[in-house]
Amino acid sequence: MHEASGNQEIVMKHTFEQLRLDSVSRSFTNAEGQQLAALKGLDLDIQRGEFIALLGPSGCGKSTALNCIAGLQPLTGGGIWLDDKRIDVLPPEKRGFGMVFQNYALFPHMSVLDNVGFGLKMRGVSKAEATKRAKAALNLVQLIGHDAKLPGQLSGGQQQRVAIARAIVIEPPLVLMDEPLSNLDTKLRIEMRAEIRRIHGKLERATIYVTHDQDEALSMADRIVVMKEGVVQQVAAPKEVYSRPKNLHVARFMGFRNVVKATLEGTQGESVAVNANGVRLLGMPMEGFDSKSVSVALRPEDMERAEPGAENAFDAHVEIVEYGGRDSLIIVNTAFGKLWARIAGECSEGERISLRVAPSKTLVYGEEK
Ligand code: ATP
Repeated sequence: MHEASGNQEIVMKHTFEQLRLDSVSRSFTNAEGQQLAALKGLDLDIQRGEFIALLGPSGCGKSTALNCIAGLQPLTGGGIWLDDKRIDVLPPEKRGFGMVFQNYALFPHMSVLDNVGFGLKMRGVSKAEATKRAKAALNLVQLIGHDAKLPGQLSGGQQQRVAIARAIVIEPPLVLMDEPLSNLDTKLRIEMRAEIRRIHGKLERATIYVTHDQDEALSMADRIVVMKEGVVQQVAAPKEVYSRPKNLHVARFMGFRNVVKATLEGTQGESVAVNANGVRLLGMPMEGFDSKSVSVALRPEDMERAEPGAENAFDAHVEIVEYGGRDSLIIVNTAFGKLWARIAGECSEGERISLRVAPSKTLVYGEEK
């Protein structure tokens, strides 16, 4: 592709159609000599042009997966393919992927331009050509005019842009980012999300982005890979992961903070009816059913005030109110336990109210073991 600006352009040469992770595993040996599996048979196909987020709690294996793809860590099982070429046997420099880390890892004594051109110099590109390409990369991240500054003279967001320019200047087929925004403040993080998406769109290559932040993954990715303890739980578009989490683990991680035990009563059209300690609820059947004991997942944000007796309505005794301006986060006691709810409007501790969650947002999973 060509990203033209005056007489500068960044031309991406290496191309591919698909990156394929085939049962990728990675184990570590601990001090007692035991094998700990950080990645357990990761299968994933990534197409050119896709923005993939690896999402999960700390320690789930996201960074290990990224490092295995980059070649910074050897696999202990499986293989990685770029189209028909096996690449897990290649050293990182032969893979030529661009990497952006949380700590920008810029050279403090080098100018912005030299930081960006460094990788090209190391690859034997002439100074004139390296300067031209570094300027094109700086143009793409909208940092033209800052070439001569030292990293310390830039803001955190600008430094992260330099790190991105440095990653893309080598014309990588794939850009790998490991929590690149976690050192930035909230406002800048949100701006940089859009910026990284824009750069990704211009490059027309694939980006793999590691984060533990659901909002970041939801707002940036074409597909989200949710991981837990080295195992992929769900691979799907953001909307799917948000509204139809595949299992209770993903549901909890995506904000279904209330998980209630119930008994399956039967089906009603596309819905299932459950009994939660005497309260009848209609919900969407998800997965994992192997008995009549089920778990119902409800998001605090999906709760709304209801007329008593309305579909899916239940009585709630307000115990704690955390006032939040536009809405309040409350803890209520119900027939089936304590719940978190985020509701609009006023309400006070001690009040008895009626709440409901629409059946389409009441997710019914098999019993949590
Ligand atoms: P975080 O968001 O905290 O960075 P993560 O999801 O990226 O977490 P990894 O860093 O990939 O998780 O770690 C996965 C598991 O592998 C963890 O249990 C971790 O302790 C272990 N691990 C990672 N690197 C090593 C290492 N060099 N030696 C031993 N164990 C390791």
